[in-house]
Parts: sequence; C-alpha cells; structure tokens
Amino acid sequence: MSTYLCVIVMEVLSKILAKRIENSHSFKFHWKYDKINLSHLCFADDLIMLCHGSLSSALVLKAALDEFSLLSGLHANHAKNNIFISDLSSTISHQLINLFGYTRKLFYLRPLVRPLIQYLISNGSSTFLWFDNWHLDGPLLSKWSTRVVYDSGLPIYAAVSSIVHGDSWSWPTAMSIDLLEIRSRMPTYNPNSSVDDSVRWLPSSSGTYSASFALASLRTPQPIVPWFKLVWFPKNILRMSFFLWLAIRGRLSTRDRILKYDHRAITTCVLCNSHLQSYAHLFFECLFSRAIWTQLLNIGGNPWNGLCWNAFTDWASTYWGGNSPTIVANKFCLGVAVYHIWRERNCQIFESTQKTTSVVARFIIDTIRCQLSFIN
Ligand SMILES: [Zn+2]
Repeated sequence: MSTYLCVIVMEVLSKILAKRIENSHSFKFHWKYDKINLSHLCFADDLIMLCHGSLSSALVLKAALDEFSLLSGLHANHAKNNIFISDLSSTISHQLINLFGYTRKLFYLRPLVRPLIQYLISNGSSTFLWFDNWHLDGPLLSKWSTRVVYDSGLPIYAAVSSIVHGDSWSWPTAMSIDLLEIRSRMPTYNPNSSVDDSVRWLPSSSGTYSASFALASLRTPQPIVPWFKLVWFPKNILRMSFFLWLAIRGRLSTRDRILKYDHRAITTCVLCNSHLQSYAHLFFECLFSRAIWTQLLNIGGNPWNGLCWNAFTDWASTYWGGNSPTIVANKFCLGVAVYHIWRERNCQIFESTQKTTSVVARFIIDTIRCQLSFIN
C-alpha cells in the first residue's frame, strides 16, 4: 500500500477510535493523556495505541481494531506487533496479552533508572511510600510483597507523608514481622513536614541529574576503538560521521551483505555494473569511486593510495587522530566522500537517477568548503 493511501486508511481508524472512546464509559486514557485525548500515534504504516492498563480500556481499542478490520479487510500482523505493559499485575498483564495475542515486550529503562534516584524525605508528600527509592533498603515493594501493604492498612499508592507526623516517623501499629523490619531500617534523618521532598541523582556527586552521568552509570564501559577520532571530532558533520561510523563497522547494506539473507539479490555494483558490491569495492576499488577520489583534494599526499578499505581505515586511524586544520580537512573529506558515494549508490538503485563522477565530486568539495568556512 502506498504511503499516501495508508495515511487515508489510518484516518479511518482514527475516526473509529475516537467514536468508540467517546461512546465508552469505561475507557481511560494513558496516564496524563486525557487532557489531549491521545489514544494513538501514527506515522505512515506504523501505529502505536495507548491506554490505561486495564482490561476495560484495552477492550475499547480491540473493538476499534476489529471494526477497522471488518471495514478494510486489513488485519494486524501478529508476528510484527508487540504489547508493552508497565507496572501491572501478572493477572491483568496476561489478560491483555491474551486479548490481543501479541508478544509482550518490555521497557527496560524504568527498572534500570529507579535504583539511581534517591528521594530525601521532608514532608513526604511527593514520594510514593511503596514504589520510590527513599528507604535504606530501596523501593519497599522491590524487597517485600504486597502482603506488607495489606498489613500496614495503607493504600498501595500512599505517599510517604502518611507515615510522617511533624518531625518524626509515624508508622501505623501493626503486628507484622516485615513491617517491624522496615521500621528498623528507616533513614537515619528525621522528616520535616514544613519542607518539600527532594530528589538526588545518585551517580552524580552533586546529586544533580546530567545526561553524561546517566549514560556513564547505565552503560558497560568498552575499550575505545582505534578509529574513534577518525569518525568523531570537533565540528564534524554529524550525518556524515554517522555514515562513516556505519561504514567502518560494516553496517551499511552493501549487496554482498544483502546476499547473505536474500539469495536472489542482485549483487553487481550499480555504480560500475561490473563487480560484486562490497565495502572494499564500493568505496575504493570501484571505477566510479576511484574517479571521484582522483577529483578530490590530494588528501595528505595520497599515501593511502592503493590500500584496501580496511587497510586504509587502519592507516587513517593511526595518522589522522589529531585536529590540525589539514587533518580535520582530510577527515571531513573522507566522511563526506563516503556519504556521497553511498548516497549516489542509493539514488541509482532506488530513484533510477544517475550523476556523473564530476557532479558527485563537486557536491563533496562544496560540502567540505561550506563546513570549513563555517568553522573559520
Ligand atoms: Zn563498482
């Protein structure tokens, strides 16, 4: 189905959803989405449907999907669809999975980040008693079962303020070993009912959130690759660097790679119509690419001339690590050339358009000049 037709069809689904939701007494929007009536997001043929985590709300979405299928003959592909569920009991989760028949996927971010945020309690009004990380043992329900909630007599969504009285902790009296253990492990400081709670970002020494601290605390450190400075350097053109990064990692879908999973794929290089299109061929050995390189600036005296793709990236990683004007110009040239050669390859395959090597080389030179003048 064309993208344009798909947009029109999705408009029908939007109307059906809006009507179903309007006529329903049980539908609840996803958290904070009720003010903007957001029940779904579409981009071309991609669709995300959202609702409160309850069977009654999900039934409304399912009924809308079924009505849409009946009208259009289009059905959701169970192999491609997924359901995302957050913070629901296993009973409701299974009900929702059975209702749609989709595979469940998980948002991993919340459980990753939750231990890194610590709540410092003052009046306790903005901190969840059972879910947030304020206790010495972390979020209470990550260690104890919901039985402890029942024992306390407090609601599941109670705030910590329900156990704050003036400037002291005040748990309800209950005969429960779990509660006694929780009470024995309370923060060593006293609350302060006249001040709001504060949040501390544990990975940062200042306690203030920053993206760099978040990234550093969530990812596993890896050794720095030798070509790091070849791809990423000050004032780089992000799009070009990204494509060079893909190329060096061997992630661009050259035809030799496509051949591994599609034996019917055409493997001949579209730029020269004579060789298997691999990395080594596309960027350096192809006559089309070679003609472009020879028209470009004489990069570093061309000491890399004659090297294959892998040998060249190894060589450049060694000698182009600095940020002198000449080195930066060389790195620009490499990234921009790889990008435009790849782009020309795509244009010839997917748009049936063809540029001469002179035109592509002119694009590359103009891009480099523009970027260098911008830097200067
Ligand atoms: Zn070729």
